[in-house]
Amino acid sequence: MIIRLILFLLLIYLLYKIFSFIRQSRPLENKYDKYKTESSKGEELVEDPVCHTYVPISQAFKKEISGRDYYFCSKRCSDKYEAEKNN
Ligand SMILES: [Zn+2]
Repeated sequence: MIIRLILFLLLIYLLYKIFSFIRQSRPLENKYDKYKTESSKGEELVEDPVCHTYVPISQAFKKEISGRDYYFCSKRCSDKYEAEKNN
């Protein structure tokens, strides 16, 4: 009976080892995919200085104003921002 219990625990331990090994090796496999998708995913959010909406950088309306890059949710906000700056 005790031998069975030990074997059972050993089996669980081995399964745990295998499981943790798979979990550890996964990020290495996806390392290159991560680099690929990181920029195209557009998960980095930028704040619109006019309406304070957070927009994914890939979908934001980018405009360079006095050497700095500004991101807006739409052209309307960018025009508004420029108009306010000039006043
Ligand atoms: Zn906006």
